[in-house]
Amino acid sequence: RDTRTKKTKTVCTFCGVGCSFEVWTKGREILKVEPTENSPVNSVSTCVKGKFGWDFVNSEQRLTTPLIRKGEAFVPATWNEALTLIAEKMGSLKQTFGGHALGFVSSSKTTNEDAYLMQKLARQIFESNNIDNCSRYCQSPATDGLLSTVGYGGDSGTIKDIASAGLVIIIGANPTEGHPVLATRVKRAKKLHGQKLIVSDLRKHEMAERSDLFLHPKQGTDYVWITAIAKYIIDQGWHDEAFIEKHVNQYSEYAELLEKYTLEYAEEVTGLSKAQLIETAKMIHEADGTCILWGMGVTQNVSGSHTSAAIANLLLVTGNFGRHGAGAYPLRGHNNVQGSCDMGTLPQWLPGNQRLSDVRAREKFEQSYGVNISDKPGLTNIEMLEAVENGDLKAMYLMGEDMAWVDSNSNHVHETLSKLEFFVVQDIFLTKTAQFADVVLPAAPSLEKDGTFTNTERRIQRLYRVLDPLGDSKPDWWILQQVAKYMGADWNYEHPSEIMDEIASLSPLFEGVSYERLEGWKSLMWPVKKDGTDEPLLYTDHFNFPDGRARFSLVEYVPPIEFAHEFDLTLNNGRLLEHFHEGNMTNKSKGLQYKLPEVFVEVSPELSKERGIKDGSLVRLVSPYGAIKLRAVVTDRVQGKELYVPMHSVSHENAINLLTGSIGDVRTQTPAYKQTKVKMEII
Ligand code: SF4
Repeated sequence: RDTRTKKTKTVCTFCGVGCSFEVWTKGREILKVEPTENSPVNSVSTCVKGKFGWDFVNSEQRLTTPLIRKGEAFVPATWNEALTLIAEKMGSLKQTFGGHALGFVSSSKTTNEDAYLMQKLARQIFESNNIDNCSRYCQSPATDGLLSTVGYGGDSGTIKDIASAGLVIIIGANPTEGHPVLATRVKRAKKLHGQKLIVSDLRKHEMAERSDLFLHPKQGTDYVWITAIAKYIIDQGWHDEAFIEKHVNQYSEYAELLEKYTLEYAEEVTGLSKAQLIETAKMIHEADGTCILWGMGVTQNVSGSHTSAAIANLLLVTGNFGRHGAGAYPLRGHNNVQGSCDMGTLPQWLPGNQRLSDVRAREKFEQSYGVNISDKPGLTNIEMLEAVENGDLKAMYLMGEDMAWVDSNSNHVHETLSKLEFFVVQDIFLTKTAQFADVVLPAAPSLEKDGTFTNTERRIQRLYRVLDPLGDSKPDWWILQQVAKYMGADWNYEHPSEIMDEIASLSPLFEGVSYERLEGWKSLMWPVKKDGTDEPLLYTDHFNFPDGRARFSLVEYVPPIEFAHEFDLTLNNGRLLEHFHEGNMTNKSKGLQYKLPEVFVEVSPELSKERGIKDGSLVRLVSPYGAIKLRAVVTDRVQGKELYVPMHSVSHENAINLLTGSIGDVRTQTPAYKQTKVKMEII
């Protein structure tokens, strides 16, 4: 056993902020996590997850050998047996039905290099564009709204820009718990230079308590108040006419669309008062730069992409792009949501944010991969499951994604996954999803591999191997390379740096990225020119369209889903500080698990009184899709008939997605998780 103490730099895997730090280890024991002043995002801070959330890597529940299904059970197998079976089954299904009968789901927790190879495996080896990632469940609408207005799907500036804004508006996000280190930057800016803060949310969380103005619009109506404010600003002559003239198309069409979004209409639809709307508009007008941050409270709605476009419209109206202390900031939840999308793990995008419909980009990849790539977009995660149902999709390969837990309407997802002819899951634990698999491949978590992550502000950073992979588990890129080799391909990457070199050679956005330029604490924010110049602030002189101009989006409001009368309570969900998403990793971290031994539902004092629900009462929530049982916590963080349940369930039996439905955002299909209605029974 190695008894020397060593310290190794890594990047946190628990949210999109992208904190980096050194991990001190002795053998496999993690002694401490130490951020340094060199950390480009967090300097000397971390949150509780980054500091104490790592003992899951030594969990006895880790997968340490490949598993093959035999009847109802899994039996341990060698890598050769598992890879041979995958190549045989998937190879034969491809030959019989074609690549479009196979689906691939990548992870936003794995590295850029892992994600790139996953899409290459799908497109080159199996000739399928059916590749997607978990941004389909969260951030796709934000990306869509930005692509249609300003041209890039990422944050327009940096976390430093957020901290230097005159006004920060947070819509449908709770950074204190979801993006803690970023939240501390906003809190500090408020204290140090009087930054103003507006929070719009259903729940009065900690940032809302600290805000100068708290807005509580009716669920699913954000598009309306945001658009009404844009109209009011124009009506007052507070818009940035010169900026619009110089930089933005479709102003007259947009002005026409705005006609009906009067303050009176917004008041009626959203429940916000005229005074609140006017105050919001005034604060934007008076601020020296406005940053808008938004999260799942916006995107996980049927109008998620339209609302994201409305946010970009409001920022364009007020000239809040292309300068420091301003801009659009969708908050990426997973550590590498931005990177996994950048790497082309999407049905209509190639690596480097190049469209599949772009003939020249496609030809470049065809030449490099030596295969034809169809210009027809593949299936999304959601469509893949529909295709399994109707018999068109025969096999799936999932890397680091617990679809059976995180997709909406879990009962239905479970039924669908059990209908697959062949199913491969590559993960670090035997997840709920893996239990439906035919072959399970043991992967290594971030502490056990080299690679790069891209955080919410488009910052690419290196992570170094802190520990060797446990047992016979392997880094994801290594596993994908083996699958390709067993399928007869000549992949011979010896280190992830070689994969990054290939990405850079095929993607203008990353052409100057190399491991040398990312050595140690160095980082780069895309786009990165050949000479290594990066672009922390986007849109300083042009937007990402051929004419260099942004465009106002002309999409309209989509009202929320209607439910039967008996489902009379609105069910919201979100994160808690100590946990990460479905909780597969943090629930196995003893210190963090101690903080949330049992999942709960927040109930307002009014509802508690009306229904006789006490603090600690055991209740059953029933939706049209399923039922879960949990304890009530009575709190004024929620109001009236609105409930809140953390998304990190302790067990599958009380997982939030047993209640959520399948209807999704009108453009991206992201499930409208936030538009869930339930009835409540006291047990
Ligand atoms: Fe990790 Fe996010 Fe916490 Fe930073 S803020 S330590 S990236 S979980």
